[in-house]
Amino acid sequence: MSFEVVQIPVWQDNYAYLLCADDGTAALVDSPEAPPIQAELDRRGLRLTHIFQTHHHFDHVGANAALVESVPELKVWGGAYDSEHERIPGQTRVLRDGERATWAGETAVIHEVPGHTLGHIAWRWSNGAAFVGDTLFVAGCGRFFEGTPAQMDVSLNEVIAGWPPDTKLYCAHEYTQSNLRFALHVDPDNADLQALSQEVDALRAEGQPTVPSTLARELSCNPFLRCDTPAIRAATASPKGAPRHDVLGRLRAMKDGFRG
Ligand SMILES: [Zn+2]
Repeated sequence: MSFEVVQIPVWQDNYAYLLCADDGTAALVDSPEAPPIQAELDRRGLRLTHIFQTHHHFDHVGANAALVESVPELKVWGGAYDSEHERIPGQTRVLRDGERATWAGETAVIHEVPGHTLGHIAWRWSNGAAFVGDTLFVAGCGRFFEGTPAQMDVSLNEVIAGWPPDTKLYCAHEYTQSNLRFALHVDPDNADLQALSQEVDALRAEGQPTVPSTLARELSCNPFLRCDTPAIRAATASPKGAPRHDVLGRLRAMKDGFRG
């Protein structure tokens, strides 16, 4: 048994992911809004059994209450920090760094990836799909709302960058075109990045999603995974010998102020 990933666009640029198992059950990765999720479940004749949570932001847990009300036995699995701070509605199971969770014959390794929030976790499944929430986007990364550059540096450049290169990265927003404008600004001579930009423009012109990505592609194109390169060090005016997390902090601050 395994599962198929169905991408559900919600609002302007959120993605929810419905994991559809062969036995007619389904799990949701984050829950922005109930009606489009319910519509997809009904259309496919699936029964929702689980929500797998990446972090507590409202556009990721907003539909929990409504879904638990319609499916009282719904299991909601999330991270330890968010559980301790009671910020995932209906959470039924606490998963810690390195723990494994099994569903639909596949196993996920849980990775704590603080930075966007302190409780953020990523789900890396045995079938090669990884759900990274708002930690990493195609050619970008999440804002550092709660964590420090040093924490985000470990999450991006040690944890995620250490996964197999063919890992499929499912992020929670379609921010790719805007991220690419900034990426090209700081890494203009990167041929892989130029090629990705053309590919993405073609996809978006047809209304197609640019997610998922692969880790291999992000390693060659995502400036936040390239803080050790001369191009990014120069673009951020980092002093010689500055630690990588310092470069990352500078890069994120530049992106926050970028109007490209
Ligand atoms: Zn978020």
